[in-house]
Amino acid sequence: MGVNVAEVATVPKKPKKPCAKFSSGCPNLTHSRFCEIHEKQEEKRYIETRKSEPWWKWLHSRRWRKASRAHKAEFPLCAECERSGRTTAVAVTHHKIPHNGNYELFWDESNWESRCNPCHELEHKQDRFKKKEKGSD
Ligand SMILES: [Zn+2]
Ligand SMILES: [Zn+2]
Ligand SMILES: [Zn+2]
Repeated sequence: MGVNVAEVATVPKKPKKPCAKFSSGCPNLTHSRFCEIHEKQEEKRYIETRKSEPWWKWLHSRRWRKASRAHKAEFPLCAECERSGRTTAVAVTHHKIPHNGNYELFWDESNWESRCNPCHELEHKQDRFKKKEKGSD
């Protein structure tokens, strides 16, 4: 079964849709929500918003660094990978229930789970998009 990667990558030929910034005058088409330019812009905006959140400070506090380090020592493997039978080293301590700035949820140890970077990014990308879909944005 010699399926080569280049072939697989070029197979889906879904038509492109207008960028979500179409209403603000963006003429670009895309396979995702935003065109490349706006994808980057949105990413930047997202990071800026994060920085003004209260939990941004928690995340960069010595308390969290210590807590997270201890948690990683206790759970040194990505839980998501483990569930699919892979063994990947932990990169971040993730919150199973998104804390959204909720102090209790953020510091609740039972809400923490180890993640490798790819799993973590994927998960946050998903809930970011979910939120956006529902939101007034
Ligand atoms: Zn655009
Ligand atoms: Zn993983
Ligand atoms: Zn996370």
